[in-house]
Formats: sequence, C-alpha cells, structure tokens
Amino acid sequence: MARNPRADDEALGMNRRVDRRDFLNGVAVAIGAIGTGLAGRAAAADGAIWPQDVPGYDPPILTGLRGSHPGSFENAHRLRDGDFWSGEGAPIDTGEVYDLIIVGGGISGLSAAWFYRAARPDARILILDNHDDFGGHAKRNEFHLDGRLHLLNGGTLEIDSPRPYSPAADGLLKSLGIEPVALAKACDHDEVYRSLGLGHGVFFDKETFGADALAAGAPNRREGGGGSWETFLARTPLSPAARADVLRIETGRIDYLPGLTDAEKKDRLSRISYRAFLLDLARVQPIVADYYQSHTQGEWGVGIDAVSSLDCWGFGLPGFLGLNLVRRAAPRMSFTPAGYVEGGSYTFHFPDGNASIARLLVRGLVSGAIPGQDCRDVVTARVDYGRLDRPENAVRIRLSSLCVRARNLGDPSVASGVEIAYARADGIYRVKAKACVLACWNMMIPYICPEMSEPQKAALHKIVKTPLVYTSVALRNWTAFQRLGISSFTAPGGYHTSARLNWPVDIGGYVAERSPDRPVLLHMTRTPCKPGLPEFDQNRAGRAELLATPFQTFEREIRAQLGRTLAGGGFDPARDITAITVNRWPHGYAPEWNPLWEEPLPLAEQPNVIGRARFGRIAIANSDAGAAAYTDCAIDQAHRAVGELLVI
Ligand SMILES: Cc1cc2nc3c(=O)[nH]c(=O)nc-3n(C[C@H](O)[C@H](O)[C@H](O)COP(=O)(O)OP(=O)(O)OC[C@H]3O[C@@H](n4cnc5c(N)ncnc54)[C@H](O)[C@@H]3O)c2cc1C
Repeated sequence: MARNPRADDEALGMNRRVDRRDFLNGVAVAIGAIGTGLAGRAAAADGAIWPQDVPGYDPPILTGLRGSHPGSFENAHRLRDGDFWSGEGAPIDTGEVYDLIIVGGGISGLSAAWFYRAARPDARILILDNHDDFGGHAKRNEFHLDGRLHLLNGGTLEIDSPRPYSPAADGLLKSLGIEPVALAKACDHDEVYRSLGLGHGVFFDKETFGADALAAGAPNRREGGGGSWETFLARTPLSPAARADVLRIETGRIDYLPGLTDAEKKDRLSRISYRAFLLDLARVQPIVADYYQSHTQGEWGVGIDAVSSLDCWGFGLPGFLGLNLVRRAAPRMSFTPAGYVEGGSYTFHFPDGNASIARLLVRGLVSGAIPGQDCRDVVTARVDYGRLDRPENAVRIRLSSLCVRARNLGDPSVASGVEIAYARADGIYRVKAKACVLACWNMMIPYICPEMSEPQKAALHKIVKTPLVYTSVALRNWTAFQRLGISSFTAPGGYHTSARLNWPVDIGGYVAERSPDRPVLLHMTRTPCKPGLPEFDQNRAGRAELLATPFQTFEREIRAQLGRTLAGGGFDPARDITAITVNRWPHGYAPEWNPLWEEPLPLAEQPNVIGRARFGRIAIANSDAGAAAYTDCAIDQAHRAVGELLVI
C-alpha cells in the first residue's frame, strides 16, 4: 500500500501544538531578530533595547532548535567564507575601554574573568558571546510541566573528567561552593528507577537487524545489575550464532593475541579499530559488529570504526578479558581512556548539567544577576538577564555579539592594547581593552586574527570539533517505560542512538519526578557520524548534515523513533510528547589525539599547543586549547591564558 506522508505525520502528532515551541511572551520575536538584519536594526533603533534587556528574556525555556541556534552562527560563516566585510562600513566605536575583553562566554571565558578578577579585583571586563545565553556548551534546558520545574543539560552533562581536577580547576569549584563528592552522595537518587524494577533496553530495528524488537534487561557492564546475558540475548532478534558471539565477547576469556607481551598487545590494539578487532581478531558475525557500532558514539562522537581497540579497552568495552591486559595507561592511548583506565575524577550531575557552574560563575561576576547564595539554590534561581550588561557593572556580559576581529594596537611584541570588533543584529561595533582572552572555538581565531603567523593559523585550522545533538523531550508521563521495564535504551541503528529518563537528582528546592503518571523529561543523543571515513572527515560531514537539518525533520524522527521503540508499552507519540528541544552542536567536543588516524607528536608540535601561543596582548583559552572536551580543561586553559596576560 502506498505511504501517505500526511496521514503518517498526523499519527505521529506532527500537527499537534507543542508547548512554547519558539515563543516566550513575545520575546522570541526579538531573539529571532538577532542576526537577521533589518528586524533587529529596527528594534535597536527604537530605543536601543537589546533582547537580553527585555523583561521576561529567559533563553533556557526556549524549545525548538537550540544549542547553536539560528541567528548565532551565520555571520561567523560569512567571515569564514570571506564575504562578511564586503559592504559593511567601519565598525562604530562604542567608546568603551576595558582592562580585559573575553571572547566566549562558556565555562572557559567565565573562568578567565574569574581568575583575572581574583588577580586584579578592580579590573573592568567585557565578555562577548554570539549565543543568546551564556555558558557555551554548558547550556540549560528548562521546562515547566504541570506546574513543576524540570531541568536537563542542553550540552555539558556533568562534572566528570578522565583525570582528577587540577588545583586551579578544583580550587575554582571550591570557590563556587561545589563539593562534588558530598553533593553526589546527598543528591543522586539512582535508586528511583531501580526500585521500580526499571533497567536498560536495546532497540533492534528491522532495517539493521531484520525485525523491530525492544529487548529489556540488558546487563549493566559497568555497575552490574540487569539480567544475565543469556536471558537478555534470548529476547533479541539476533540469530543463535550472533547471540553466541555477543556472549563470547561479553563473558569469554579468549586471548585473541596469543604469544605477544602486554606492551605488544597494546601497541597492536592501538593500530586497529574496535570494529576491526571484533571482525578480524574475534571473528564475530558482521551483525554483531553492528550491534556494538554505536557504543563509542557518546564519548567520541564517532562509531567503533573510528576508535582504536586499545582506547575501547581502556574505556571498558568488552572482549578483552582473555588478553589479561595490565590496567594502566599505555603509549598510544588517547587522552580520555588513558585517564579513565587509571580512575578518573570525581563526578556530579547538576539537573541542568554544568550550566549550574556557569550560573554560579555569573552570580559571582555580576552582582544581582542571579539571586541566592550557594550551589544548591542556584539550580532553581532565575537569571535577571537585564543586569548582565549594565554600564555600572565591573563585569559585563554581552550576548548575541559575535567577535569578528581581534587585533593588537601596534606591533604585537610591544602593543599597548587591543581593539575588538563584534557584530550584533544592527551593526558592527568596536571596543578597546588592555588585553584580550579568546575563549572561543579555536578554529574561529584565524578569521578574527588574520594578522597571526601562518603556522599558528594553520595549527588552529587543524582543530575539528565533534558534532553532536542532545535532545530534550517532554513526556506527558512515563507509564510506557514502566510497562516495558526500562528507564533507558540504546538503539544501534536509530536516529538517536541512546535515550534515558531524566536522572533523579534532588538539590535545593529542586525535586526529581518519581511518579510514572506524571510528566518527565527524556534525554536523547544523536551523533551524525559517517562510518568508514577518517574521524575528522566524519566530523565535517556530520556538521554539514546538522546545519542542513530543519527542526521538523528532527521532530518527525524523534516521534517515529519513540513510537516504534515504546509501542509495546502503549506509548502514543501524538499524545505523549508535549515539547521538544533539539540542542544542535555542529561544533561540539574539542578534539583529542586519536591514535588510529594520526601519529603522536611531541607536545611542542601539537596543533593545540602551537595554536594557543599568546599573540601580543591576545591570549587563547577554551577547551580546544587543551585538546580535551572537559570542563576542567576549559578552566585550566583559562587559568593559563590569564596567567600569560598577567605577566606582560
Ligand atoms: C554535548 C556536549 C556534552 C558535553 N559533556 C561534557 C561533560 O559531561 N563533562 C565535561 O567536562 N565536558 C563536557 N563537554 C565538553 C565541554 O565542551 C566543556 O566541558 C566546556 O563546557 C567547554 O567550555 P569552553 O568555554 O571551553 O567552550 P564553549 O562552551 O564551547 O564556549 C565557547 C563559547 O564561545 C563562543 N564563541 C565562539 N566564537 C565566538 C566569537 N567569534 N565571538 C563570540 N563568541 C564566540 C561559542 O559560541 C561558545 O558559546 C560536553 C560538550 C558537548 C558539546
């Protein structure tokens, strides 16, 4: 029978009104105007009230396409393509002069302001960010469902890093009153879903595995729990031979590299992908490699074809029991597994992820912007965005402002200051300062500092960030999950490859939902990778795909996927989905060295190290500069960059 797309869309609920999709009491009109030229110009001319100053401005509650939202990046792409300046007049001088201008209001930029103020308490600082909210990747998604506040991270999930936080990063957390170990003990409530008998499921789709089937009771490899592998595998549509292969990979003790020493095995494993390990050494059926394909996507943004099997061993993927590898970091391991194999940092998840860290930093930097006094009440506090950029502030945060040029005043070696130009909806402005920290995405820097040396620009160009999508879906209730016995699932062939009910965390006045009859948020992840290509080519292709995908496509895919996966629990996407926020990050994780694609380089030759060299009075921060997609790295790089400026 011919498919009727309109009827399909109706069944999925594409025609249903979704709560507050892009609207915020009219403020969205102003937000939407940013970057669209004329409308923004008119708004500014009518009394120069910027969206962030309009009462009710509250970006975390916006739904639809967030992350790198429309209006935040178009001018950056024009700058990259060389057609930004054509037809633009000279920037308008605002007459402002600061001690420091920071480009990028993510954790790194906010930390740079924190460290600079700690050293120079009287300093006046301007922070510019192209997004409509501060925090960068540490973005907050906020929903009000049936009168109750529900939060999710729109990007940075939690405090968690492969290595212990450094004294600078740990010290910053302590200054903000964050004690991760104590908080995790007091606030995490993992038992909520366990006490209801809910575990993890895997959805096998018919396009990849021959039949649609949700297999509940997947064993939890890391924390234990779940059913036995035999019981779980019996619920899957995998053939008996494929099930035997999975069982062998998960529980077998076979040495696939007999006769080699520990070091030789590790070296060999570092030169083949995990997919090659499964297919060529463990000789599993190809469908079994497909079953494991997405296991690395959450951490690396690419599948097992693009991550070395040594890194997968370090990260805890199965199949290595019989190799008896000594559990410690080895040469040719990338940053993340080399750290985690030896323990990792403390961990804590605020309900809005590390957006709470960004909010605590802003609370400390801009007095009166966020009420409250500790890291618990910040979770429910409301930001007064109108206070962020007031002339009387020592620290001003100017949103929706894209830096398009940063240059030293005079020869960089003896420059007396810097001049920064930034684009807003109504024009281009310039401001001056004694110094500048570029805490923005490093690959932007060659476009805004064309005077930099060619080798430094070439190094910065090599940084290709990983694209990924974190989607927040508001559900009317979670009875379907309860009936199916799951609180989370992975979907190796799915549009989103993982989904989980919001983690239950109680902190300050925020209390997690415990009743399956009540609304809840679902967190889903998608990594638009292109298996078979080298890692950075996958990243570039995935980024292009993300930027070309309209919200409607995401929405249709989400509705269809949840409808199929949860059908056995009585889930109806048209009835049960009440709001969707797609956090699209075309420039997501900072890239780290991947032994599968590049030979290791001495520190001084690494692109991030060459790229982050101070350029006159311009220092460079951001997690890109540390080649590690972690909050402590963003803080450490801010600390280093500020240190470089304080000595000139
Ligand atoms: C989806 C996702 C999940 C993550 N999860 C974790 C996690 O659980 N734990 C963890 O430790 N880390 C995580 N990370 C890594 C995260 O990137 C870092 O933890 C940290 O937040 C990076 O901070 P940053 O300030 O260096 O960069 P960003 O947060 O990217 O901030 C840089 C800011 O600069 C802005 N900018 C860029 N160019 C310009 C310009 N020309 N003018 C003005 N502004 C500009 C950007 O738009 C951005 O807002 C995650 C990242 C992503 C994308």
